[in-house]
Amino acid sequence: MRFPLRLQYDLFLYIAKQRLAGKKHYPLVLMLEPLHACNLACAGCGRIVEYEDTYYEKMALDECFESIDECGAPIVSICGGEPLIYKPYAELIQGCFDRGKHVQLCTNAILLDRFMEKVAPHPNLTIQVHLDGMRETHDRSVCQEGVFDQVIPQMKRAVERGYRVSTNTTIFRDTSDAELEELFTMLDGMGVHGFLITPGYAYEVLGNDIYMAKSEVHRRFERIRKIAQRHKVLSTPLYLRFLTGERELLCSPWANVTRNPRGWKGPCYLITDSHHRTYRELLENTDWEFFRQRRDKRCENCKLHSGFEASAAEQVTRSFSDALEFGRWVLR
Ligand code: SF4
Repeated sequence: MRFPLRLQYDLFLYIAKQRLAGKKHYPLVLMLEPLHACNLACAGCGRIVEYEDTYYEKMALDECFESIDECGAPIVSICGGEPLIYKPYAELIQGCFDRGKHVQLCTNAILLDRFMEKVAPHPNLTIQVHLDGMRETHDRSVCQEGVFDQVIPQMKRAVERGYRVSTNTTIFRDTSDAELEELFTMLDGMGVHGFLITPGYAYEVLGNDIYMAKSEVHRRFERIRKIAQRHKVLSTPLYLRFLTGERELLCSPWANVTRNPRGWKGPCYLITDSHHRTYRELLENTDWEFFRQRRDKRCENCKLHSGFEASAAEQVTRSFSDALEFGRWVLR
């Protein structure tokens, strides 16, 4: 099964409750960035440029818990920056479990061995490792030699010790299909539980040409979709069809909300117009319909899962054929 049963059950109950309460905009995932500092400086990372002035600021543990409680999302994605250099990460993760949350720890895995000494495997925990390709590509993407060789053995040990480990791969303009196939085959062999794939987003602040325009994304993902069918790719079938241009989806930016040391980032995970003091302020002061319809110029080339996987899930509940395809895919 592609996702743990407990996660599916908790998500189902949560969504049913939100609908019964008549809520239109509710979060599924809280992207919690307790800090933006990192032990790497990757070429495709918008955070280290956008948050240069507050790079060394950190959220207090209490602030993290207040944010988790205020927004109520069932999944907390602890990211950053590198969350494993946030000192109280073990307490933060335990606090999430105590609240019945599912945790996705988004890490570059450089400090994974040390993490395993502090946090035991848990049914609500997934370690999600950022891995952009095989040795040469990944090291180039993270702008540091030797990282691939450092993290792969640690990932293997994590799988052997019973942690649920998945990967997140950003597809850039020069990512090759053959290399993706090789990467997924290797990860399958290691027992990694699944792979997320997403086209890189052209952050304005970065101004480089490693990202694809929408038409390129469509062409690339027609081929990548075939590769995905042979491996445990976690991107849903409808989202993959959206990436090939076969289906259209509106955005659901409220489903993945971001909290960082500056506040609640709005309107979405990718673009920043303001930081709000509270989740309520983010919810009340954002023109969700405008961004749902992707009317902003900055939405033009965006196909990132943070905006569209929730829309795909919503669509699955409205169409029998999409639901059937989704059900088969989850069980496969
Ligand atoms: S389309 Fe992308 S950039 Fe626009 S609101 Fe949605 S997630 Fe944000």
